[in-house]
Amino acid sequence: MIDRDRLYAIFMELCAIDSEPTRERLLADRLREILTELGCTVTEDDTGEKIGGTAGNLIARLEGTGPGEPLLLSCHMDRVVPGIGVKPRIEGEFIISDGTTVLGADDAAGLAAILEGVMVLRERNIPHPPLEIVLTVAEELALLGSGHLDTGRLTSRCAFFLDAGGPVGEIVVQAPEQAKINAVFHGKSAHAGFNPEHGISAIQIAAAAVGRMKLLRIDAETTANIGSIMATGPTNIVVERCEMQAEARSLDPVKLRAQVAAMTDAMEGAAREYGGSVDISVVSCYQAYKLAEDAAPAQRAARAALGIGVPVRFKATGGGSDANIFNRRGIPSVVLSCGYEKVHTTAERIALKQLALLAQWVVAIVADGAVSG
Ligand SMILES: [Zn+2]
Repeated sequence: MIDRDRLYAIFMELCAIDSEPTRERLLADRLREILTELGCTVTEDDTGEKIGGTAGNLIARLEGTGPGEPLLLSCHMDRVVPGIGVKPRIEGEFIISDGTTVLGADDAAGLAAILEGVMVLRERNIPHPPLEIVLTVAEELALLGSGHLDTGRLTSRCAFFLDAGGPVGEIVVQAPEQAKINAVFHGKSAHAGFNPEHGISAIQIAAAAVGRMKLLRIDAETTANIGSIMATGPTNIVVERCEMQAEARSLDPVKLRAQVAAMTDAMEGAAREYGGSVDISVVSCYQAYKLAEDAAPAQRAARAALGIGVPVRFKATGGGSDANIFNRRGIPSVVLSCGYEKVHTTAERIALKQLALLAQWVVAIVADGAVSG
């Protein structure tokens, strides 16, 4: 039913268009052009101006041709660095980059699958409910783009985000909350050779704090990581300032609070012990969600997966996505696995077969029984 060659071509075209977070202009323009050709009414919001980016979120609407409540399909337009100058190519059963950049299948696979899906709906006159297609910017910056989206303007109450790893057929119904911790340790400078005893090393405080933390995998639902420690100075001066950035995530908000408290306690304890101080700020990036497996989008995605002959698996993820924002704002949302692998690395790839299945899945979700295969 889908046109595989057309799908692979549009996928590779989208990958080749430069689009790092807050620099999505070229890709947004091309997507707007294609969606307009497909009969959608496309608007762009003012998120670009608000976040210092080159483009806002795109909201495309396609009128329904059949019964049913409106559905929302969504992807993000940005990709992680290095995402400029991507040269996608087919090698064997996969599409890969040349190894110097990511491929950008996250999230061009979703974008291409939605575009191909809409093309098929039109070509085959398949009845479908009204569609809202939301393409966000700066998702990779802790959901910055969707955070600024006015979801009150959307009518759909059943949403599908094409933005997860794993084989087509896997459906994310649970995702964690994430908190970011920024800390600045303050010590006291002194000459490191003449009178080091008068100094307090901010680096030592930070190191002691990290040494007291439980990090990485905390339990089945909780993770924590230090992302950066920054302090610079000549070796003959005791460093008085050290910055640290860390994060913690958990599917369980209570466990997240506990992990964040343990990390900040370790920072404060170390600062006290060394006679220095620490300024800490904790920001909640996004909230956790857990959707019941019988919720409308979960059931619709599962029916469609069975319809195209792939096994269904409901799962939890350790990463956030725009679905965290939408679920929080009362639009029940699942995240669909797109078949891509090794995302956020230059070894990122997607199997041709998975990309084709993803486009079929989109058609089956939207048509929901009006068509098979
Ligand atoms: Zn993504």
